Amino acid sequence: MDLLNTLVDKGLRRELPTREEALAVLATSDDDLLDVVAAAGKVRRQWFGRRVKLNYLVNLKSGLCPEDCSYCSQRLGSTTGILKYTWLKPDEASQAAAAGLAGGAKRVCLVASGRGPTDRDVDRVAGTIKAIKDQNEGVEVCACLGLLSDGQAERLREAGADAYNHNLNTSEATYGDITSTHTYADRVDTVQKAHGAGLSACSGLIAGMGESDEDLVDVVFSLRELDPDSVPVNFLIPVEGTPLAKEWNLTPQRCLRILAMVRFVCPDVEVRIAGGREVHLRTMQPLALNLANSIFLGDYLTTEGQAGKADLEMIADAGFEVEGAGEVTLPEHRATAGGGCGSHESAGSGCGSHEGAGCGSHEGGGVCGTSAAAPAVSEPRTDLVAVRRRGAGTDLAPNA
Ligand code: SF4
Repeated sequence: MDLLNTLVDKGLRRELPTREEALAVLATSDDDLLDVVAAAGKVRRQWFGRRVKLNYLVNLKSGLCPEDCSYCSQRLGSTTGILKYTWLKPDEASQAAAAGLAGGAKRVCLVASGRGPTDRDVDRVAGTIKAIKDQNEGVEVCACLGLLSDGQAERLREAGADAYNHNLNTSEATYGDITSTHTYADRVDTVQKAHGAGLSACSGLIAGMGESDEDLVDVVFSLRELDPDSVPVNFLIPVEGTPLAKEWNLTPQRCLRILAMVRFVCPDVEVRIAGGREVHLRTMQPLALNLANSIFLGDYLTTEGQAGKADLEMIADAGFEVEGAGEVTLPEHRATAGGGCGSHESAGSGCGSHEGAGCGSHEGGGVCGTSAAAPAVSEPRTDLVAVRRRGAGTDLAPNA
């Protein structure tokens, strides 16, 4: 297919595809899907080989958020029965992090619900970063604390944070439909603050909130412009108790097309499958490793993932290898430019945006391109959604 040859050539050269080409990937047919995965897989292997980076989420503060992000079970008014607790102590957070690192993770993502940190919160997180770094040599730490005020990114950097996550989540045009308490521009500003402070920027999206193909391409092109080192792709977990609980819009095939499109638009960036991996990709998860080079190990912020051991087995069975602590994630041209991060959030995870999900339904039509996408047939899989009941904030051992 000419489209795929063109996209592979551009990806190997780190050249931006056109919007029409990105839309055409989303519009490919199921008959062409394996060709799409193989093509994007060539780009993935060029920049990341067969390595899979593992990241581990630690929810420092859960629930009790005054913001109204529609996808989030920690939002104001959420009736989801999630764990609710205030700040973990540094040694509690360090203990949770150690479980993830022992399971093979090389990055720990410290997440707190809320609009953004106070200066006192930043001090608190600084103490936690120190505790984790003192006890785990070589660990990468990413913070995800919401919107940053002036100077806070610099203070986190000084405290030893390597990266900062804040997701754009969806296109600028639809942002107001999913959240009213802050704006898309606020989110862009925080990603730029992180970048400006020398933190590796991590920013991604949530698919499945009812957005169109054009919205998805818009947000991914906006991300490319912001130039984060990592792009987490969340697939909305429509959690009961949130406004988007009925938005079951994704199929495994749709998720693969979205990941392929992100890989073509951001060829040399760490593309991470974030929340919703198990719920929406289901048995197609191993195929998605040909597109993304990074996943979360174990549980998400507010929902449970598959067993950490199953993550490791999946990676090995699919012929990939877990990236070691001594290996550099990013290709040389990016690693030396500084930056390098992770992220999270998941529809049904928690922050970064801090959770993940939106509105509407449907599937976007194609614009040009190949055969038309099959209509989405997506049955609610509430049986696959489990609120997290173990790990941070509980007395039970974490899943790692
Ligand atoms: S995504 Fe973050 S800011 Fe939005 S409601 Fe959830 S915890 Fe609050």
